[in-house]
Amino acid sequence: MLARAKALEAEGRSIVNLGIGQPDFAPAPHIVEAAIKALHDGHHGYTPAAGLPQLREAVAADLESRSGRPLDPERVLIVPGGKVTMFLAILMFGQPGVEIVYPDPGFPIYRSLIEYSGATPVPLPLREANGFAFSAEEALSLIGPRTRLVIINSPANPTGGVTPASEMDRLAAGLQEHPQVAVLSDEIYGRLLYDGRKHASLLAYEGLDERLILLDGWSKTFAMTGWRLGYSYWPRSLIEPAVRLAINSFSCVNAAAQFAGLAALTGPQEAVTQMCAAFAARRRQVVEGLNALPGVTCVEPGGAFYAFPNITGTGMPAKQLETALLENAGVATLAGTSFGLLGEGYLRISYANSPENLRSGIERIGTLLSEQGVD
Ligand code: PLP
Repeated sequence: MLARAKALEAEGRSIVNLGIGQPDFAPAPHIVEAAIKALHDGHHGYTPAAGLPQLREAVAADLESRSGRPLDPERVLIVPGGKVTMFLAILMFGQPGVEIVYPDPGFPIYRSLIEYSGATPVPLPLREANGFAFSAEEALSLIGPRTRLVIINSPANPTGGVTPASEMDRLAAGLQEHPQVAVLSDEIYGRLLYDGRKHASLLAYEGLDERLILLDGWSKTFAMTGWRLGYSYWPRSLIEPAVRLAINSFSCVNAAAQFAGLAALTGPQEAVTQMCAAFAARRRQVVEGLNALPGVTCVEPGGAFYAFPNITGTGMPAKQLETALLENAGVATLAGTSFGLLGEGYLRISYANSPENLRSGIERIGTLLSEQGVD
């Protein structure tokens, strides 16, 4: 869809892109300077496979604010982007005969990788009525004798849903009954929260210490998607095989990017605060704009930079509306079905775009819906 949007733009069509999942901000200058300095200082060689020791220490220190307990830098693995943690974790646990629970609608790579590993994907439904938070009871009810891994993601892509701490408490407590099940907690949007929400991290639960894999990185928080820089925190028993997989696949992450990552974590945080404030204002604008459209309703997302409006009132399936919006109205969005079968009836709108483009995009959607006779 995004390739088609680019092709239309190349033909001279005006396209408002509300499809893309990356911040429209630049990384703070001190981050870029740190990478330049690393290159001038001669950091051109391999680094240790698990990452620069000082970066692993900075990640552990940063995560301590999330966990409220001391963490071990030796259990941090620096990876080329958040996705790589998914790949490593799903490779470790997935194999024929095993079940892996994953969110639906959710980041599409979870299901792709589960299927690639030979495991059976078991969708954990996320419901609009619940603000797209997951229900711990439902997650626990999906665990059977063949379940080896449960994947959760809060704040979530594509819905912006945030699962409250009370639900995390229930999940962590319930998992005590299932010692064979590991958890991959994708917290890549953990700092993009609105209305004073606090991030509820599974890292806070000591009882999960030996089976929690935490996924995070620099892509979203520091607007560094193209730097390919992420990290994970592993159970003590799994860090060695994780590092071995790193050595056997990517060797280590680009050295200059790691120095930039260190500056991002340890330097001034104003750019993150400003970006969050901008997203908070745009979120309001988008939710109000969408709710004013015929056939569309939109719950307020608590985090990330996505809105997930319900479009069943338009009478069009999600894919049909996505195509009509791109081809006839020049607005790129993503059909909810790109994120799982339970995404039918929804579109994903990214508000990582300027307020002017958001206004124009929503206006164009409104015009198309009126032309289609939706009221
Ligand atoms: N997890 C979720 C939920 C995402 O939405 C994304 C990117 O869109 C990622 C992980 C991957 O991030 P990265 O670009 O660092 O690989």
